[in-house]
Amino acid sequence: MKITKPNNKICAMCIHWNGPLGGKSVKPRIGMMNVFEFDPQEKNICYKNHFNKAAWHSCNQWQNKF
Ligand code: SF4
Repeated sequence: MKITKPNNKICAMCIHWNGPLGGKSVKPRIGMMNVFEFDPQEKNICYKNHFNKAAWHSCNQWQNKF
């Protein structure tokens, strides 16, 4: 697992990654404010551009989810 902030422009923190469900591995890190953990190996369909994207990917259509 890796950790990240909500304003980090990666797919794991984007509203379009796997649509309303989001990433299965993405959850708040217990005991840390404003920090999320995610599995960098997880891949999901982007509902914006319809490509299969890994959690750590990014693009210029990123929008914050959290
Ligand atoms: S490819 Fe872009 S729009 Fe799609 S989930 Fe990743 S950052 Fe968001």
